[in-house]
Amino acid sequence: MAQPTTPALARVCSNCDGFPSVRITLGGRDRHGNLRTITVHCPACHGTGTRPTRSVRSVQLVGSRA
Ligand SMILES: [Zn+2]
Repeated sequence: MAQPTTPALARVCSNCDGFPSVRITLGGRDRHGNLRTITVHCPACHGTGTRPTRSVRSVQLVGSRA
């Protein structure tokens, strides 16, 4: 039996594609030998990776059965 996958995909943030937080190296290492990094969150979803569905109507169309 096929499982509906569209509702989960519809909630993934389109800006970051589900990867809301990344670490970016600043170059070089600190005195302990660790890479110097900063963490950046997606500005569209604020680090959650999901977006709320746009309307109730789209949810009903996705979840309806033929
Ligand atoms: Zn995002």
